[in-house]
Amino acid sequence: MRFLILSDIHGNRFGLESVLEAAEGEYDTLLCLGDVVGYGAHPNECCEILRGCNAVSLSGNHDAAALGLINIDWFNPVAKEAILWTRRQLSEENKVWLQSLPAQHEVEEFDFQNVHGSLREPWEEYITGASTAEATFLLMQHTLCYFGHTHVAVVYRCPADLASWTRWEQLEGAELPLGGAFDIEPGWKYLVNPGSCGQPRDGNRQARYALFDTEPRRVEVHAIDYDWNAARSAIIAAGLPKMLGDRLLQGR
Ligand code: ZN
Repeated sequence: MRFLILSDIHGNRFGLESVLEAAEGEYDTLLCLGDVVGYGAHPNECCEILRGCNAVSLSGNHDAAALGLINIDWFNPVAKEAILWTRRQLSEENKVWLQSLPAQHEVEEFDFQNVHGSLREPWEEYITGASTAEATFLLMQHTLCYFGHTHVAVVYRCPADLASWTRWEQLEGAELPLGGAFDIEPGWKYLVNPGSCGQPRDGNRQARYALFDTEPRRVEVHAIDYDWNAARSAIIAAGLPKMLGDRLLQGR
């Protein structure tokens, strides 16, 4: 089985469409790790594209915020403005669909699971380094877990025998700003972030996605060009804060 794994689309229709075109024919099932909406100018279109692909999607903190399910008082002013705009734009149908999404998901058959933020706090916690990765490794039910939320493509691994693993310094991590491929090797547990499809924050403005083949167990992270100028122009034309468009050009 081949999975296409996306995260943090954030209403960027141009990033999403380019990824689907690039990955066409390379996957059987589309998985989205959440934050379908928020920041970008096309929240309804992104929901509809995923629904049209029968994607299995998770709910991210921005999706929950757009539905009014979490308190946005602590969001920065720009994120808050984008959430309130998105809330006004979303169709009833897309709200119902977003509301139906879980915060985490297990694929028993292929021994992996998915979450937006972390297994400790699915909507809130950012896995940004060894200590936060460790907390999720300790809660993992499977040998592989995909996550999003940080908008940074990265892989962490630790020995699967957690009883022998007492120090988080043993944990290995590598960022993949330009993409990369690796095998899921026996004897290890893996935490993988495919990076952001619609608002990368690792200095590379390219749209990211992962392909996961379950036989053999291999992950490829890809980085592709898309029309970031069009995504930026749409944000400005919608009356959203200009910096949300500008940051797409910087990948920050
Ligand atoms: Zn996000």
